[in-house]
Amino acid sequence: MALREAAGNTVRETLANSMAQETSRDIGPVVLLGPPGAGKGTQAKRIMDRYQVPQVSTGDLLRQNIAQGTEVGCAVKAVMARGELASDDLVCEMVRQRLRQPDCEQGYVLDGFPRTEAQAEWLDAFLENTVFENSHPENSHPEQSHRFSSKENPSSKSHPRVTRAWPIVIRLDVDYNQLLLRITGRRSCPTCGRIYNVHFQPPAFDEVCDVDGSKLVTRNDDRLEVIQPRITAYQEQTGPVADYYQRSGRLIAINGDQPMDVVTEEIFRILEGHRTENSVIEDQRA
Ligand code: AMP
Repeated sequence: MALREAAGNTVRETLANSMAQETSRDIGPVVLLGPPGAGKGTQAKRIMDRYQVPQVSTGDLLRQNIAQGTEVGCAVKAVMARGELASDDLVCEMVRQRLRQPDCEQGYVLDGFPRTEAQAEWLDAFLENTVFENSHPENSHPEQSHRFSSKENPSSKSHPRVTRAWPIVIRLDVDYNQLLLRITGRRSCPTCGRIYNVHFQPPAFDEVCDVDGSKLVTRNDDRLEVIQPRITAYQEQTGPVADYYQRSGRLIAINGDQPMDVVTEEIFRILEGHRTENSVIEDQRA
């Protein structure tokens, strides 16, 4: 009995592992757009868990730099505290270094990047020149899709893969009043990173993490006086990013006012659509 159970567990583990590989292999880059408080961080973490790809949050990277007192951190601290955007050069260089890490080879979720049209252009150039080959935004037909460069991804020699070079861009649209409640109510655990909202998803005990008991914290830029400049920065500087992707037919908008789980389901459906398409491409080439 114990043996059969153990065998069952092994089968389940093997299945889970192969599903994880299956889902992670062709997701490619995913961009989550949306104003502060739209739920990008929460959804990015869910994509990360489901597809086994890292979340690359420029806000988190910058906050880490500030906490560690790096040169980058010192350069952005005051700008971030005012709710303004850090410079394109600094952020792009930080992203370039992060995307070159091996855990990004099979895809990643960009959360909070690109935030300006210049960053979106930079990302396209980066994808074209560094990570993928034969890239062109108009090439949406399977036969013209793109292959990971074997130089960038040595494992592709033994298991050739065809995947999307261009990001799947998903924008979460949220009502303004809802945004304010989400931002002012947001708390996070400094230990495990879990995010709560005192209005919608409170912890079991006031201001304490359910997972590890740490005292929850409010982000420095979630203060009421900083929220308006952040939303203005989003409207003025990140609005054109959506236009940029819309022009090339790559923008998918989702109603972010829906319950979080419904938004997640919609996102997974979108990603699965691309995954199915990519699997077909792979089968044809095998
Ligand atoms: P977030 O956590 O995404 O809300 O970002 C927090 C803050 O980090 C923003 O208000 C900006 O000051 C800065 N920041 C994050 N991502 C970017 C980016 N892509 N470009 C410029 N500044 C950024």
